[in-house]
Amino acid sequence: MTVPTAGDETFPDIRDAVRKLCARFPGEYWRKLDADRAYPTEFVRALTESGFLSVLIPEEYGGSGLGLGAATAILEEIHRSGCNGGACHAQMYTMGTILRHGSPAQKQAYLPGIAEGTLRLQAFGVTEPTSGTDTTRIRTFAKREGDKYIVNGQKVWISRAEHSDLMLLLCRTTPRDEAAKPTEGMSVLLVDLRQAVGNGLTIRPIRTMINHATTELFFDNLEVPAENLIGQEGKGFRYILDGMNAERILIASECIGDARFFIDRASAYAREREVFGRPIGANQGIQFPIARNYVETEAANLMVQKAASLFDAGQPCGTEANMGKMLASEASWHAADTCLQTHGGFGFAEEYDIERKFRETRLYQVAPISTNLILSHVGTHVLQMPKSF
Ligand SMILES: Cc1cc2nc3c(=O)[nH]c(=O)nc-3n(C[C@H](O)[C@H](O)[C@H](O)COP(=O)(O)OP(=O)(O)OC[C@H]3O[C@@H](n4cnc5c(N)ncnc54)[C@H](O)[C@@H]3O)c2cc1C
Repeated sequence: MTVPTAGDETFPDIRDAVRKLCARFPGEYWRKLDADRAYPTEFVRALTESGFLSVLIPEEYGGSGLGLGAATAILEEIHRSGCNGGACHAQMYTMGTILRHGSPAQKQAYLPGIAEGTLRLQAFGVTEPTSGTDTTRIRTFAKREGDKYIVNGQKVWISRAEHSDLMLLLCRTTPRDEAAKPTEGMSVLLVDLRQAVGNGLTIRPIRTMINHATTELFFDNLEVPAENLIGQEGKGFRYILDGMNAERILIASECIGDARFFIDRASAYAREREVFGRPIGANQGIQFPIARNYVETEAANLMVQKAASLFDAGQPCGTEANMGKMLASEASWHAADTCLQTHGGFGFAEEYDIERKFRETRLYQVAPISTNLILSHVGTHVLQMPKSF
């Protein structure tokens, strides 16, 4: 039995189709990939062929031209089914930077291929080892020489770079201390990874507690054609910020999916598992935490949906996107903990998929933005308290 949720009311046909697709990729599939640290190629191919990864691309470029609300339904259902969208969710939204800030020629050159799935743009390089969350201190530098940029530097935690044809790269084009403001002087370049690897770009995988295909990148005089600059030179930070709201809302919907996965599993197990002659779910010490997770998840989802509606209406949604992401990631983490506890020792057995999802959902407290930085946003931007940095 799947626990009823208010969320089921949105995009029922899409949700149904996603569930059917995900049923072809059960726990065994993900467990094997997890053990081998392998990429879910067949799952990503199935999602691509079904058109679910191109829903945000306008119809004139071959996508279905739907809003973020539809995309949240897709990612939520993927995660609720026990699958993981992390291998390809960026194919949905990274193109937004080209769509919003690219030239007409760049849109024509890339968006139809991305919509078709023949071009994978699912890597974006922002984070660096020395700058961390303080993005204005990135050091990767692109120096203009004639009709090309020469890129030198290093990035870390760049996911899916080995499974992407293109990457959006944020780099400095003016040193921080020479720019008008710290947020100025950064630019976005579209890097063709098929040509770059071995010609100035080295990709090294990072093994992590989850199977996430994340990497570090080393740039050593990588040449990028100047025509691959997106928008205006020096304005890249703003372009990346524009994309972050969509990313936070979509990742939040994955958290809602995870939370619902854990609540479904925990409540089912609590109904069936008998100890001391009765179902463990009859004990309020087991029942109430699951009920609390349900309440928390439903409330978090309202904020995520509010953020998605604002985004789709073209309204400012930075605070709601941040709050939705924080609430949803906390709901999924709390539900993960309850679900593990409800399963007792069996929660630790790989074949139940609880321990895998438990590890996977922990990521969202840190990435794509950590909880502290969200609280800092609310504390300073909304509540007007002084900034600590
Ligand atoms: C699996 C994975 C995949 C990722 N994929 C990508 C990707 O594809 N592309 C990309 O660009 N990045 C990616 N990231 C990077 C991710 O966005 C960062 O890890 C995240 O933003 C946090 O940055 P950091 O790790 O440098 O932490 P730091 O900035 O070093 O912070 C460390 C801790 O200190 C806290 N902290 C820092 N400053 C303050 C402050 N002023 N007040 C209070 N607390 C503070 C933070 O909240 C955090 O908990 C990924 C990360 C992971 C783990």
